[in-house]
Amino acid sequence: MTPAGARTADDVVTPALVTRLTRGVSGADVTANHTPFTGRKLAELPEATPQDVATAFARARVAQRPWAAVPLAERAAVLLRFHDLVLDRQSEILDLIQLETGKARLHAHEELQAVAVAARHYGRKGPAYLRPRAHTGVIPVLTKVTEARQPRGVVGQISPWNYPFELSVGDALPAFVAGNAVVTKPDTETALTALLARELLIEAGLPEEVWQIVIGEGPVVGPAVVDHADYVSFTGSTRTGREVARSAATRLIGCSLELGGKNAMLVLRDADIEKAAAGAVRGCFSSAGQLCIAIERLYVHEAIADEFLLRFATRTKALRLGTGLAYGADMGSLASAQQLDIMTRHVDEAVAKGATVLAGGRPRPDIGPLFYEPTILDGVEPPMAVCTEETFGPLVSVYRFRDEDEAVALANATPYGLNAAVWTKDGRRGREIAARLRAGTVNVNEAFAAAYGSAGAPMGGMGDSGLGRRHGSEGILKYTEAQTVAHQRIMPLAPAFGLTDEKYAALMTRGLRVMKALHLR
Ligand code: NAD
Repeated sequence: MTPAGARTADDVVTPALVTRLTRGVSGADVTANHTPFTGRKLAELPEATPQDVATAFARARVAQRPWAAVPLAERAAVLLRFHDLVLDRQSEILDLIQLETGKARLHAHEELQAVAVAARHYGRKGPAYLRPRAHTGVIPVLTKVTEARQPRGVVGQISPWNYPFELSVGDALPAFVAGNAVVTKPDTETALTALLARELLIEAGLPEEVWQIVIGEGPVVGPAVVDHADYVSFTGSTRTGREVARSAATRLIGCSLELGGKNAMLVLRDADIEKAAAGAVRGCFSSAGQLCIAIERLYVHEAIADEFLLRFATRTKALRLGTGLAYGADMGSLASAQQLDIMTRHVDEAVAKGATVLAGGRPRPDIGPLFYEPTILDGVEPPMAVCTEETFGPLVSVYRFRDEDEAVALANATPYGLNAAVWTKDGRRGREIAARLRAGTVNVNEAFAAAYGSAGAPMGGMGDSGLGRRHGSEGILKYTEAQTVAHQRIMPLAPAFGLTDEKYAALMTRGLRVMKALHLR
């Protein structure tokens, strides 16, 4: 039931909006996307063939050269204007994110915040990351060496459905500052959000053709993107990531892969139990757990486990599920029947093999066709699939540990290595344990937002969770090629001015000794 006066999908996704957003999007065929809230069709969208992908790359390639010639400060300024547009037009953006993903408005807003942070960070700091750097030459002073950062050209970006605003435009922003064009393949179910992001970026000053969006089936359009790209930025499952890496290797192009996780949270004996329980709710159930850095394994010190679980389960049971395009719900829907199937399979199998449900444990078709209650399982053990496989839903398994060495070993017992969290009143101890965890980001006394939201620091996965990083210097330099320009002055790097080979060799030997004595690097 929609409350009287509330906006509906039809109010938001009007034919005029769809026409406006899809203008110029290449696609000989037609596909459609749907809202998880009701399962109803949202829009018909142009579906690209491999030939359409080739056309999009050709257009992007033509547009990239003049864009790279725009002064760096002006390219960065586009991001700062985009930042303001995102905040000013948030209501429109949040409506679309919610309708396409089914997430609660607060979680959609977190996504928007992440984009604003990335726009501010690369808008302000992008030019410093890309600045040419001087290096000591082979013969100091006589050899003047500069390292420049050249754009890759056209970046192919492939992104999933769970964070459609952040994982399309948020990740593309540094590529644009670095002077690239981008061709993005969003997930079809969340393509309107990416298209709205594109419209706003164009309004902020990005030349239209510099960002192309192609929509269509992953196994058809995705490989075509990899076939034409100068670099690939992929976010999605580990399985697809391996395919992308194989194709990129064949073409000898670089790629960054932001993949899956089975993230652990450690609640140490001295943790503030109330804060840790509230943090666990955020960590496990944000965006209904459909978040690569969400917590799916919870390790609690045995001395505080009962108390912690009581508070965590009480908070979890109190979460309000809802479909409204307004604040108020604490958790939204799963995004697809596939996610609901995995969630149901993981819970049912674990329960059949002896696990206990501490909260949730059932679907909620009375709210929406893809809703499932936030669920906590106790007594989970191998070979239950939920022990090791990523659920990507509102499901967490709890385990007790006796000492910190055991907790660290359990947390690290996974091929993944994306995110982790440690709760303790002793910040220093938390940071020491962080160093022992094999994860690309570790949060102390927060679940994921502290590390993810700090866009100056790298974010990404170890092991099966990926290759490369977003954010920070790595998140922009990956979209560039390093170019060294060495200018040799006055004398060549060879015997000259009548020097014999012997004299030249002796001169160079002396020179090398002097350079070391002068502490030259
Ligand atoms: P997915 O791998 O199925 O799809 C991701 C994207 O790849 C989609 O756009 C899809 O259409 C496309 N694709 C599918 N087959 C392809 C192929 N053969 N070649 C090229 N592209 C292809 O993943 P998903 O189910 O959409 O997303 C969920 C997964 O993404 C989870 O595993 C999650 O952990 C991961 N994820 C990771 C991060 C991160 O930053 N590490 C962020 C969000 C999601």
